[in-house]
Amino acid sequence: MSPGHRPARELLREAARRLTEAGVESPRVDAELLLAHCLGVARARLVTLDDVPDDVATRFAALLDQRADRVPLQHLTGTAAFRHLELAVGPGVFVPRPETEQIAGWALEQLAGTDRPRVVDLGSGSGAIALSVAHEHPGAQVTAVERDPEAIGWTRHNAERRSAAGDTPVEVLAGDMTDPALLTDLDGTVDLVVSNPPYVPDDARLPREVADHDPPMALWGGPDGLDVVRGLLDTAARLLRPGGRLAIEHADAQGGSLPALVRAHGRWTDVADHPDLAGRPRFTTGTRRA
Ligand code: GLN
Repeated sequence: MSPGHRPARELLREAARRLTEAGVESPRVDAELLLAHCLGVARARLVTLDDVPDDVATRFAALLDQRADRVPLQHLTGTAAFRHLELAVGPGVFVPRPETEQIAGWALEQLAGTDRPRVVDLGSGSGAIALSVAHEHPGAQVTAVERDPEAIGWTRHNAERRSAAGDTPVEVLAGDMTDPALLTDLDGTVDLVVSNPPYVPDDARLPREVADHDPPMALWGGPDGLDVVRGLLDTAARLLRPGGRLAIEHADAQGGSLPALVRAHGRWTDVADHPDLAGRPRFTTGTRRA
């Protein structure tokens, strides 16, 4: 070890111990990702690294303090991985979750073999679902709707970055998914509506990491968590063509109530519920009746 440098291995061991003591869920991975971020290298490169310069170690220590205090990892690195994309995130926008990658995958399966499908993502946040659809199905004409004035700055930023990288541009629209006047020019023409709406019931207790850092507007859904979904169903039924497909994410405890709500709404057939990779009920799908 040269003066002014510390071995990466040692730093990481201490950091992982620190995050473990603080109760962070994936201490080792988080420590590695934060150190890689401070060094400006990919995480895989850490194994080839011997020493870490002191100024980097100091920056790393500061980020560890914040992580131990439950600032989301993605806010500290400024990016969230979602399917094939790296999205910019930070305070003011909901951090996309791995669970949501699957609903985007389902949406893409529905589009397979279609040429220029029209897709609407309601409550787009970082743009994760909309931008993944545009990236993986380049023919799709995608509109991302976001009501939160702060979050939509991130939607726009990510949409611009993806189109600069060569993806089909996604249209970003400021609007509320429960507004009867939203996107009326598309009435009856949309092939797929997908949404990760706010669905957390008012009395739920969320981890500090979520409650203190994700925008409340992206989380809370009224007494049973389904207030926004009720309006969303009307909007989706209006926008979709007969035979058009709908997918809505929900909480694991809503695997009964959300499909029941969709069936009772009366305008859907083939209503089904799907589990996430952990086997928990995660999203409901349906087809717009003729
Ligand atoms: N799944 C989110 C959480 O971790 C809730 C997201 C939502 O309401 N759409 O709390």
